[in-house]
Amino acid sequence: MIPKAMQDAMNEQIKNELFSAYLYLSMAAHFESKTLSGFANWLRIQAKEELGHAMKFYDFILERGGQVTLKAIDQPPSSWNSNLEAFEQVLAHEQKVTKNINDLYELALKEKDYPSQVMLQWFIEEQVEEEKNATEIIEKLKMIDAHGTAVLMLDHELAKREPEEE
Ligand code: MG
Repeated sequence: MIPKAMQDAMNEQIKNELFSAYLYLSMAAHFESKTLSGFANWLRIQAKEELGHAMKFYDFILERGGQVTLKAIDQPPSSWNSNLEAFEQVLAHEQKVTKNINDLYELALKEKDYPSQVMLQWFIEEQVEEEKNATEIIEKLKMIDAHGTAVLMLDHELAKREPEEE
């Protein structure tokens, strides 16, 4: 049985992951409306991944005899002043999620909840990847900010992203 404190914190994390999906879907719509469909593609796939993250917590709580309680999701922003600003928000958001995951791990240690510790290790590694991906896009955007052609090239590169195998 999952400890009550862990169950409650993981229910909160389901909301955080679903908010990530909401935020990235909102950004995808923003880029789509600016005809940067490669950026939109990357963000749509990212949003799907976030939904998958929420489901990992959802399934884990249920597997361990806990209760899933879905919380209200905040409304995400719907426009950004620049491409760079949007991806800086992606990174800032992922850094917040990293802190959420680290706090969950801390709680799992305190509760001596070994199954949760093992499960959360996947998320700890995933967050390293998420921050790295966002940072790389930001660095490229900084290099090319004044040059529209290069933005189109990056859009083309991001268009190539395909969903990972489940
Ligand atoms: Mg996530």
